[in-house]
Amino acid sequence: MNDMSSKLAQRAQKLFIQHLRENNLKVTQERLALLDEIFATDEHLDADDLLARMKGKQRKVSRATVYRTLDLLVQCGLVRKSRLGREHYYYEKMEPGGGHHHMVCTATGKIIEFWDAELDERLRRICQDHKFRPTFISIQVQGLSEEGQKVEQNTSFF
Ligand SMILES: [Zn+2]
Repeated sequence: MNDMSSKLAQRAQKLFIQHLRENNLKVTQERLALLDEIFATDEHLDADDLLARMKGKQRKVSRATVYRTLDLLVQCGLVRKSRLGREHYYYEKMEPGGGHHHMVCTATGKIIEFWDAELDERLRRICQDHKFRPTFISIQVQGLSEEGQKVEQNTSFF
């Protein structure tokens, strides 16, 4: 973890503890460990990934705790939940000002992140035209990655 991301993780932990206390919820090691795990990676994780990672670190966390903690983290705006592709939800840390977009390969499940300031600006203007105040913008493009296109080619051959 580099300096900037560890600072981000520290700040997230502070906010999370505050959120838990405000809601009369216990600050547990499991909850903090899950937050750490999400902030230690740039990957998009689902609940099963998190469970597996915790198991790998010999930390006993129940599936219910994982789901409950993820809900809490999403509630306080520290973690972003996206339905990428059809099957399930992915979680990733929220970066300050970090509204990025996703391309999702429907063949391989690969997720590509992209940013485009001009695109975001254009979307804001479209919202303005509709007197709509955006609080969060995220685009998901589904299709086939380079690898995915090869897979599809191979399968359509048969
Ligand atoms: Zn992402």
